[in-house]
Amino acid sequence: MSRKVTDNTGVADAAEGTPARHAKTIIIGSGLAGLGLAIRLSQQGRTDYLVLERGSDVGGTWRDNTYPGAACDVPSHLYSYSFALNPDWSRSFSRQGEIQQYIQKVSKQHRVLDKHIFDCDVTSVRWNAEASQWEIKSTQGEFTADTVVSAVGALCEPALPDIKGIDTFEGETFHSARWNHDADLTGKRVAVIGTGASSIQIVPAIAEQVGHLDVYQRTAPWLLPRFDRPYTKLEHLAFKHIPGFQRLSRAAIYAARETQVVGLAKFPPLMRGFELIAKAKLRSEVPDPELRKKVTPNFRIGCKRMLISNNYYPAVSRDNVDVVTEGIAEIRANSIVTEDGTEREIDALIVATGFHVTDSPTYNAIVGRDGRTLAEVFDDIGQQAYKGASIANFPNLFFLLGPNVGLGHTSMVYMIESQINYVADALRTIEKKNLRTVEVRRGVQDAFNTDLQRKLRNSVWLNGGCASWYLDKHGNNTTLWPDFTFQFRRLTKEFDVAAYNTTTIDPDHGNRADLKAVTTR
Ligand code: NAP
Repeated sequence: MSRKVTDNTGVADAAEGTPARHAKTIIIGSGLAGLGLAIRLSQQGRTDYLVLERGSDVGGTWRDNTYPGAACDVPSHLYSYSFALNPDWSRSFSRQGEIQQYIQKVSKQHRVLDKHIFDCDVTSVRWNAEASQWEIKSTQGEFTADTVVSAVGALCEPALPDIKGIDTFEGETFHSARWNHDADLTGKRVAVIGTGASSIQIVPAIAEQVGHLDVYQRTAPWLLPRFDRPYTKLEHLAFKHIPGFQRLSRAAIYAARETQVVGLAKFPPLMRGFELIAKAKLRSEVPDPELRKKVTPNFRIGCKRMLISNNYYPAVSRDNVDVVTEGIAEIRANSIVTEDGTEREIDALIVATGFHVTDSPTYNAIVGRDGRTLAEVFDDIGQQAYKGASIANFPNLFFLLGPNVGLGHTSMVYMIESQINYVADALRTIEKKNLRTVEVRRGVQDAFNTDLQRKLRNSVWLNGGCASWYLDKHGNNTTLWPDFTFQFRRLTKEFDVAAYNTTTIDPDHGNRADLKAVTTR
């Protein structure tokens, strides 16, 4: 706790016993969302904010997911900030390293790194009603803020499987999002648990290198072709020098992707077209009928995230790779035992079992107006927010990438920028109207969520016959946006203060600085 802070934020260093540092706005997390908001605030000329980031660099999920084969499923020209287009993307679908370099470059170009405090793990965020401020505890000391923006994202907390004996495994083991690059898998007997988006990239990337690979599949995923290729020199020149060419390319990708929501959310029978393509792919890429049967999904395509890969089926068809569909009964010191009693020896275990999405441990750290944590509130009502950004009982707290703003088919960066518009306008409104607190009205939040769940009723996510991480423990889809993304952009264009209960700054104290002066801590 007493570690010297090496940030260059202009606020006092944190050390044991020193007073909490104050910033008007504190952003937690510096992935594409938190970083994007920081850039917007700087563009607005604001200097009164800080970004607390638990890692030692920007990038969030793209910093953390360094597993072999990691790449984006959304084309590069759409998976980038609208204010920082990149004519230099090397291929149509970027790989992790290139995306991370892009994020680092943008953070430097926009000169926001001096507003960051890295290696700063936030452990508690508690509302102080008397001071109308958030009190934040972190591994880099304490902070207070008039407004907090949580930009930690949904895919940040690895979920480890609760399998008997997993703790007793003696070989090398790690989660896909915490890849151990020191572990040499060459020639080893390796097991991968899970067949989601991460696994289907890892398996082909390591299949050739390892001695033997067992892929433990609980549910077979649907796979579509990946139209990935390097850009030619001519295309690079066009992206760079022909005015509007890159924007046009981006718009075309956006439009093509946007049409998918019609089948996913509104009229699932339309997804049959995708299923036909996926089945043709299965037939051509998995010649062995027994293996094909194993890897053929048993639910409507789109119910879980549709995956794109050209090398997964060839990888699992290799002689040194087995797809194991019997459930895992137990993990032992050097082996995995399946429910049919078969024991397979392994040297290394890779856990590609996803993330805590609807039950993020970060929800336990946030304590709202009535003393309840966000986890407790969500336990009652499910993961709910208003426009994915604000939650009743949590005044002056905004979320980027909150409930129901997720997407499976197009760029999250588009949704992030919509939310940045909303939150940046909220901060401007708070200042302009001299507001002390803003808290979304319960009735408004409820009506918003009733409408969301009505829209989701016919979706493939609820009717496609699968169990996915999109659903919370109440069976509601509380992660995905069920409409066109341009509708969300329209809804978040401006901060609708009328949807919020507000209090104004006490005229006796004039401003917040005075307010703090009379508040005892
Ligand atoms: P995921 O999609 O949640 O997949 C987890 C896998 O682990 C599933 O196959 C799941 O099986 C299996 N699993 C979970 N618990 C298990 C258990 N106890 N025993 C056996 N199997 C178990 O996680 P992910 O692959 O890390 O992907 C998460 C999300 O990250 C993606 O949906 C996507 O949004 C994002 N992502 C994107 C990319 C990309 O753009 N290319 C790449 C990676 C990740 P069930 O299906 O039966 O639950």
